[in-house]
Amino acid sequence: QEPLLEVDGLHTGFTIDGDMHYAVNNVSFSVKPKEVVCIVGESGCGKSVMSLSIMDLLPKHNGKIDKGAIRFQGRDLTMLSDKEMNHIRGRDISMIFQEPMTALNPVLTIGFQMDEVLMNHTDLKADEIRRRSVSLLDQVGISRSDQIVNEYPHQLSGGMRQRVMIAMAIACQPKLLIADEPTTALDVTVQAQILELIQKIQDEVGMAMLLITHDLGVVAEMADRVVVMYAGQVVEDTDVDTLFHDPKHPYTKALLRSIPRMDEKQEELDTIKGIVPSLKNMPQQGCRFVDRCPEAMDKCREIDPQLGEEAQNHAVRCLLYDASFPNEQKQRGVGS
Ligand code: SF4
Ligand code: MG
Repeated sequence: QEPLLEVDGLHTGFTIDGDMHYAVNNVSFSVKPKEVVCIVGESGCGKSVMSLSIMDLLPKHNGKIDKGAIRFQGRDLTMLSDKEMNHIRGRDISMIFQEPMTALNPVLTIGFQMDEVLMNHTDLKADEIRRRSVSLLDQVGISRSDQIVNEYPHQLSGGMRQRVMIAMAIACQPKLLIADEPTTALDVTVQAQILELIQKIQDEVGMAMLLITHDLGVVAEMADRVVVMYAGQVVEDTDVDTLFHDPKHPYTKALLRSIPRMDEKQEELDTIKGIVPSLKNMPQQGCRFVDRCPEAMDKCREIDPQLGEEAQNHAVRCLLYDASFPNEQKQRGVGS
C-alpha cells in the first residue's frame, strides 16, 4: 500500500546566535492510509517540531526546513506556496494541539469558528453550514450543541474545548489528523474520555493519524506503528506489538521500564538517568544517547549509528544491531 504521508530525510533547524541547530535531524518514516502512527520520546526529542514542519507552522523568524521532503499523497509539501498549503491544512491534513485555548479564538463564538472552517474548505451553503457545525458537535459528544455554538471558548471546560477542537479538525473529513499530546493538559478522567473519542472518530472518519505523545500507555492503546525519537533522530521504528514485546534500542527499553505497571508492585519507577541533550549541546559525533545508555561501548562515542533494518519492518539506530560493526566489539557496558 502506498504511503499517505512520507517524511524523507527531514532536517528542521533553528538559528540560534547565528548558527543552525537541527531539532529534527534526518528523520524518515511513513504513514499509510488509515494507519495510526505514534511518535514517542521525552520532551525535547523533536516530536513537536516534526509535526509543525509537516503543517508548515514553524516559527517563521528562526525555524526552517533545511533539507528533505514531506510527501503527502505523493506531493512534496515543502515545495508548496503558502496559498496551496492553506488549502491542504484543515481540509486534507488537520491538527489538534495540547492546549485548545491557544488554538481557539477567545473573542469569537464556537459556532463562528466552526462555520469558518466549513466555509473555507467546503461548498456548503450558508444555511447548511450552521447545521453541519451543530451536527459535528453532536458527533464529538457535546450535548446542547445548538446552544454551545453561541458560547465562547472560556465558557467551556478544558475537555469540552478539546472536543470542539476535534470537531473542527474533522469538519472536512481529513485524510490525516496530527494530534500533538492531545490529552496532556486535561484531568486524568477526561484524558481517557478524549482518547476514547479520538479512537472512535478515527474509526468513523477512516483517517490516518499521527499521534505525538510521551505516554506509552496511550501508545499501547492507540498505535498500529511506533516511531521512537531521541535527540532529533528516529532510533526505532516498528509495529506496536514488536515495540512492546521485542524492543531493541536501549532508549526504547528504558522508556518501557519507566511505565507504571498495574500488575506489578513496583516500589520505585525506573526513570532514565540524565537528560536529552539540548539543541546547542548535541554531540557532534557518535551516538546521541551514549551518556544515558546502560549498554554503551567505547565505539559509541566515535561511530554514528545508522538507522538500519534489524528485521523486516523493524528499524533500529544502535551499534549493537549494526551488522557492519564487528560482533566481538559488541561488548556491552564498557563505555564511559
Ligand atoms: Fe547505547 Fe551504543 Fe547503542 Fe547508542 S549505539 S544506544 S550508546 S549501545
Ligand atoms: Mg512537544
